[in-house]
Amino acid sequence: MGAGNKMSASAAIITKIASGIFAFIPGPPERLASNSTIIIGDKFGIIIDCQMTPERGVELWDAYKKLTTLPLKHVILTHWHGDHWIGHDKLPYESMLIHKSAFSQIVSEGEKWVAAFSEKFPPGTMDSVTIPKNVIQIDRDTTIDLGGLKINLIPAGPAHSAGDIIIKHAESSTVISGDLFFVGRPPYAGDPAKNKDRWQKWMQTISEIKNVAIVPGHGKPIDGNTAKKLIQVIN
Ligand SMILES: [Zn+2]
Repeated sequence: MGAGNKMSASAAIITKIASGIFAFIPGPPERLASNSTIIIGDKFGIIIDCQMTPERGVELWDAYKKLTTLPLKHVILTHWHGDHWIGHDKLPYESMLIHKSAFSQIVSEGEKWVAAFSEKFPPGTMDSVTIPKNVIQIDRDTTIDLGGLKINLIPAGPAHSAGDIIIKHAESSTVISGDLFFVGRPPYAGDPAKNKDRWQKWMQTISEIKNVAIVPGHGKPIDGNTAKKLIQVIN
C-alpha cells in the first residue's frame, strides 16, 4: 500500500443528537462517507449501520467504546447497500437486525458490493469482509427497549431499496432515515427495487414530524425544514 493511498483513519465527527443518541459522521474522503448512529440505554447499546470498509468499522467501534462500557447488543442495518454493512464484523455485536428482503439481498448479491468497492480502495482493504451472522430478520414494526430508551424499527421499503428500515426515537423526535435522505450530495437511486413514490412519501412523512432531528444516510444531520427542501431533489 503506497502512503499516498492510505485511507483516513480517524476523521469522524461524533454529534450528540439527543440524550443517548450520537451520529457518527465520517470526514473525507467522500467515498467513505456513509453515516452510523450509536444509541446507548441503561442496559446496552446499539449501532445503526456499520460503515463501508473494515477500517471504518474499527473507527466506529473505537467511537462506541469512548461513549460507553455497556455491551453492544445489536447492529441494525437501514438497508442492504454495501456502504452500510461491510464494516460489521469489526463490531462485537450479539445479533444483527435487518429487513427480511435486505438480508436475502446481502446473501445473494452482497459480494457484488465487496467486489465493486475492492477496486476503489488499496489492495487488501476488503479481504476480511464477511456476510453478517446471527441475523434477526425484521418484517414488521419492532420496538427495542435499551433500558430507559425505546426505539422503533419501522419497515419502509420498497423506497430507496427493497428493504429499508427507519429507526425512530419518539421521545426526542429523532429519526435515523438511512438513505431516504442524502445531504450534501445527490441521492443514489440506482437500486432496481427502489420505489420513488414511496421514497418521496416517506421523506414527506419524516419531514412533517414535529421538531424532527434526522440522521441521514450521508451528510450532516438535518431538521424538518431542510428535509422538506430535499424532497425536490429526487423529483
Ligand atoms: Zn443506499
